[in-house]
Amino acid sequence: MNIIFLGPISSGKGTQAKVIADKYHLEAISMGDLLRERRNIQDEIGFKIASLQKQGLLVDDDITLQVLEEKVSKCKEKGILFDGFPRTINQAKLLDELLKKYGRKVNKVINFEIDDKAIIDRIGGRVICKCGETYHTSYKKPAKEGICDKCGQALYQRDDDTEEGIKKRLEVYHTQVVQLIDLYEGRNLLANVNALQSIEKVSSDIIKILGGSSSDN
Ligand SMILES: [Zn+2]
Repeated sequence: MNIIFLGPISSGKGTQAKVIADKYHLEAISMGDLLRERRNIQDEIGFKIASLQKQGLLVDDDITLQVLEEKVSKCKEKGILFDGFPRTINQAKLLDELLKKYGRKVNKVINFEIDDKAIIDRIGGRVICKCGETYHTSYKKPAKEGICDKCGQALYQRDDDTEEGIKKRLEVYHTQVVQLIDLYEGRNLLANVNALQSIEKVSSDIIKILGGSSSDN
């Protein structure tokens, strides 16, 4: 079983990816994490990724697909959950080709539905620490305001976590995802999930959609 999770930033799909991958014994692939891991391998591809990201540029589809293929080729019989990939229609086509090459296909696409206001509320209050911990000024407060519980460093807000920055990112997301929704709806693969519910409810909705099968390609 190969699944795609579509959803905007902070829709909770990363959390669900862990739950669902665990339940169905899938390899969860988050493209962001994968590129970060790959960047640390100091070869030609790793250096290219590092250089693009240092310039604030997106990693192009060529490199992304190369990195993805390295990963997919190692998954053998294991099903895969793609978390936040593809983002564009071109990536969707490239993913189709890649999966076909390994005797796979997309079996289901879960679309996380959440309104922009909820996301702005969630991210707008997000503060992070250099050590990687994240907090929220309303939902996950540190014990001492502005200070990381784990390491004691000062917390800060990411530049693009401002309301303006979030709105810009969501605009790009909506423009691109509409095309993906059309594509997968046309293939009868799309299922919508209300991502504003509790983590448990979202998980159980996804499990209902995916049904009992867990290991087939
Ligand atoms: Zn910290």
